Amino acid sequence: MADFKTHLMGAAVVSGLAATTLVMTGQFPHQAVIGYFILGVIGGLLPDIDSPHSIPVRIAFMGLAVIAGFLVVFTFGRRYSLVELILLWIGCFALIRYGVFELLDRYTVHRGLIHSIPMGVSCGLVTTALAYQVFDASVTHAWMCGTFVTLGFLVHLLLDEFYSVNLFGKKLLKKSFGTAFSLGSLKQPIGTLALYLAVIGLFYLCPPPRPFTEQMLNRETYHGIVQRLLPGETWFPGFLRRVTPTSLLVR
Ligand SMILES: [Zn+2]
Repeated sequence: MADFKTHLMGAAVVSGLAATTLVMTGQFPHQAVIGYFILGVIGGLLPDIDSPHSIPVRIAFMGLAVIAGFLVVFTFGRRYSLVELILLWIGCFALIRYGVFELLDRYTVHRGLIHSIPMGVSCGLVTTALAYQVFDASVTHAWMCGTFVTLGFLVHLLLDEFYSVNLFGKKLLKKSFGTAFSLGSLKQPIGTLALYLAVIGLFYLCPPPRPFTEQMLNRETYHGIVQRLLPGETWFPGFLRRVTPTSLLVR
């Protein structure tokens, strides 16, 4: 099983690549892309929230609770008074840090259903639905947020799967092989079924993905990237001139 650091790195690398690609399309505001990147990294840490007593998970949970609190305040900042906002912030923080945390602690087994592909899809759909319904995001923005969460989540599962393969020993496959990148668990048929039903239900809470898929599948979106895949005649043209202080150039 991959450790916390590996998961953090893996999710950051893949989300970073995806975010860079989005920047190159020139169709997404930079602040939004930074947000997508952060969501991708959070997604990469989510699958291990079922082992809530490890210190990294505790830290990640604290971070998540703080970010969620800020999001609520940013959204309702113009409508409510300071006292109301502080109460909302504390409520949101407590709900995540104590409510969700305790629930997970009590009812989940590590590497059970939470560590599965449908769970990753559910997390992405929840993000999309929240972004659209609560935070008034546009359809494309909302789906992009969800896509990054699911992307990070799947990277985590894949990393766990790769780490269960012992490449150097004689025994090629460890016992845990195949348990990380799973479609569900036969030992928990009701839970698995509920999870798939949740995926369907959540999908209907999300806006129709048409504008998002159209933009993502459109060749025009990637037109510039293919052209700029490799540098032209020189590498980093004009870069030296930009980073050298002008006083040096004048002399
Ligand atoms: Zn894991």
